[in-house]
Amino acid sequence: MGTSARYLFRFDDICPTMNWSVWDQIELVLLKYDIKPILAVVPDNKDQQLMVSDARIDFWDRVRQWQSWGWTIALHGYQHVYVNQKSGLLGITPNSEFAGLSREIQETKLRKGLTVFHSNGIHTETWIAPSHSFDVLTLELLKSLGILIISDGFSTRAYIDRMGLVWIPCQQWERIRPQKAGLYTVVIHPNSWSGDSVERFVQDIIAFRKQITSLSHLLEVTQLLPLSTLEKFIYWIKNLWLFRVKGILRYIIRLFA
Ligand SMILES: [Zn+2]
Repeated sequence: MGTSARYLFRFDDICPTMNWSVWDQIELVLLKYDIKPILAVVPDNKDQQLMVSDARIDFWDRVRQWQSWGWTIALHGYQHVYVNQKSGLLGITPNSEFAGLSREIQETKLRKGLTVFHSNGIHTETWIAPSHSFDVLTLELLKSLGILIISDGFSTRAYIDRMGLVWIPCQQWERIRPQKAGLYTVVIHPNSWSGDSVERFVQDIIAFRKQITSLSHLLEVTQLLPLSTLEKFIYWIKNLWLFRVKGILRYIIRLFA
């Protein structure tokens, strides 16, 4: 593979009632190949959809262990419960736990989430919004709470924004789709995975082993620069096409189907 593309793995919806039978297999694979992923941990899950197995009482011991291995623990909302149909800054899905809410409500949720983390010995600087939905207020609050890394958006490199927040793009789902250059986060939902998915995951790792990186390594070796006007324009168009135009077209097709 003579390309300079780099891949990060991000696992979403990590909580005490996640799909442990699949997760335990994934964890072994990550250890075997020495891969340090980003884990989106829900501080106080109340989302029925994420209640797949019986709750593990040693959950926070496990999270501390992942942290001790150098895996990135990210704050994945507070309770993972959607309270409105706002798609926020990125406009990806019409569900939100944060976007469109008042500063007070958003701040309370973020502080409660962080309190759960801190009382369990978990340190985080990384944000992963449930359903990719958050707004400028959320970003301001995250910054004030010391969370300076946002895992989201469609750039093809890490960059720093006007607020001083670092954006780590995430553009692939469940599997690596080979690229020539750039940084790609592969977002994985273990709750919907089977044993076959784990096997495909191992195949991807073997095929792209040298191009898989970790967030901590990436931040060490990357000089973070802001996006140029051209890059901003390209990502804006990409976002518009992927999540607004396509959505409108699908809606129109359904109307006439
Ligand atoms: Zn989620």
